[in-house]
Amino acid sequence: MISLKDNVSLLPLVGEIYAKRLEKLGIVSIEDLLFHFPFRYDDFSLISPVGQVQPGETVTIKARIDKMENSFTKTNRKIQKALVSDASGSIELIWFNQPFLTRTIRVNDFFFFSGKCDWFGAKKVLVSPQYEKVNRTEPIHTGRLVPIYPETYGVSSKWLRSRIKTALEIFDLDLEEFLDQEILEKQNLTGEKRALEQIHFPNNQLEVEKAKERLAFDELFLLQLSALKRKAEWQKISPAINLLPKNKEVDQLIKKLPFKLTGAQERCVEEVLADLTNKIPMNRLLEGDVGSGKTVVAAIAGYLTFLNGYQTLYMAPTEILSHQHFETFKKLLEPFGVKIKLITSSHKNEVDFQADIIIGTHSLLYQLFEKEKIGLVIIDEQHRFGVEQRALLTQKGFSPHFLTMTATPIPRTIALVLFSDLDLSLIDEMPQGRIPVKTWVVPKEKRTDGYNWIKKQVSNTPNQAFIICPLIEESESLKDVKAVTQEFEVLSKQVFSDLRLGLLHGKIKPKEKQEILSNFKEGKLDILVSTPVVEVGIDIPQATIMLIEAAERFGLAQLHQLRGRVGRGDQASYCLLFSESQEEKVLQRLKIMEITSSGMKLAEEDLKLRGPGEIYGTKQHGFFNLKIASFNDLALIKKTRSLAEEFTASEQELSLPLKKRLEKYKISSV
Ligand code: ADP
Ligand code: MG
Repeated sequence: MISLKDNVSLLPLVGEIYAKRLEKLGIVSIEDLLFHFPFRYDDFSLISPVGQVQPGETVTIKARIDKMENSFTKTNRKIQKALVSDASGSIELIWFNQPFLTRTIRVNDFFFFSGKCDWFGAKKVLVSPQYEKVNRTEPIHTGRLVPIYPETYGVSSKWLRSRIKTALEIFDLDLEEFLDQEILEKQNLTGEKRALEQIHFPNNQLEVEKAKERLAFDELFLLQLSALKRKAEWQKISPAINLLPKNKEVDQLIKKLPFKLTGAQERCVEEVLADLTNKIPMNRLLEGDVGSGKTVVAAIAGYLTFLNGYQTLYMAPTEILSHQHFETFKKLLEPFGVKIKLITSSHKNEVDFQADIIIGTHSLLYQLFEKEKIGLVIIDEQHRFGVEQRALLTQKGFSPHFLTMTATPIPRTIALVLFSDLDLSLIDEMPQGRIPVKTWVVPKEKRTDGYNWIKKQVSNTPNQAFIICPLIEESESLKDVKAVTQEFEVLSKQVFSDLRLGLLHGKIKPKEKQEILSNFKEGKLDILVSTPVVEVGIDIPQATIMLIEAAERFGLAQLHQLRGRVGRGDQASYCLLFSESQEEKVLQRLKIMEITSSGMKLAEEDLKLRGPGEIYGTKQHGFFNLKIASFNDLALIKKTRSLAEEFTASEQELSLPLKKRLEKYKISSV
């Protein structure tokens, strides 16, 4: 017996080759196939006697094949011609360049044909109609609303349709309803099984709508239930440690800081310290724009942990950033007797954790042994906000407090649906005296002017510029390295031949990277050309210009993050968004950057236009597009949220069908 969770290759007529292709669509199990939804339907529901077909109509006919042949057009193109008929008359069908059709569509067979009728010279014909042999079962490719799916190489909608039909038939009984009748009635929802049948093979548009309603409800409900369960489980772990508030000492530190905390920082510090002294392990996301001052909040948390005799682990996304944070922490905390240690890849095998705050990249976790007294783990800009890291530490027997930090603005609806296992602290205020980065969209025809302006700005001044080239693929690949290297060649040899340029991308060795960045920081380079994956939070105060190539390929939130790399000193700073696009809509979207300096506003704006997967770039960050629901549907998000909360609050064990459904929404499958 095969089950829904089995690999899709086990479904009749799928096999290994198709299974491999289906992976590109994110389909691994048979269940995934059932949840691969159409994005539109061809309306072939008008069924007409052959003799009454009118030019201009999209129709379905049921007819016998009288003639079928390959022939040639005047321009020597291969075409296929059929003559078909029923009792009411006959009509000609033509296809282009599909010589194999004569083997499928044979004289005297009966077929359904769906397509548009047109004049071909003086004759009425159906041009490239869909075809389906008449047999005992209902047609699925013709004569109805026909689903059109996201496709990939070697996987057509027609193929998907027939396999999904088969899966629905085989697993008819396995699709056990997981919501109580009472809930279905109260929410006015279709049963799941019917919804699945109707999303793929609806009888009319109304059924499509009803099916979408149910499936969108499920998607939002299950994602939130899954996150809330994860949260409940995390909170069941009691922290190995019990931190005391130590208010006096903490206040001393805050007083001695080189600046006064902003109101938002103060609030976030309070929230974090309250968590640290709680019996439940903290799992908090600290969110704030680049430059909003997250590091000092982290440092204060580390200080309280130190005061209680525990260690803090601080993990940065890259070595360069861990160096930078090491310096910051030393400055802030060493005067208070805190021992800080930096662990880099050059002393990988050294497992000396004899310090109060240990700073490094995320590989630190793998070097930990049970003897360490880790009280707090801080993760800066980590994928999926620490889900894997938490799992790993729990496995190793640690149960520290967790603080994850990000400069990614996350609109409320996304936070609710995707990250509701985290508590959120928001630094929504910048330190005083920051000047917004002046931003321009630079269209194709102004490119040279843009370059000249930069030349003037950086020649013989301390000012420096970043030039960011977009990624071609989702994560940095060799192709991208080649593209950025090529761009670097053009820029350094032709455009800016009198200036000193450096190149940075993900495939450059850490030591070399460090050197290039130091050179840039020390003013030995005027312009740094780089891919966007390099160094999210890097701090170079004299960098005042950010040029982003092919800016239209980025989400607004991403552009905003890149822009945040300049404007860190007291100089006026500039961001130039280059675009080759001539499309008004594209340029309009970019122009929002010119007038808005709030990351959150930009993210919300972007969310109206695109899904989070497209806004934030890589999937690894835990941002992904919903299959059928929308992040803009706050009403449905709230409704499903409260249902998910009811389920989590009640002590009752989840029903088996619900548990099974929920498995699909485990974070690992994201
Ligand atoms: P991010 O949130 O991007 O990690 P950082 O913590 O690196 O930001 O802070 C950016 C800069 O702002 C640092 O140089 C830091 O010293 C400074 N800073 C942080 N908080 C304040 C504040 N309240 N007033 C003035 N400067 C601050
Ligand atoms: Mg930072």
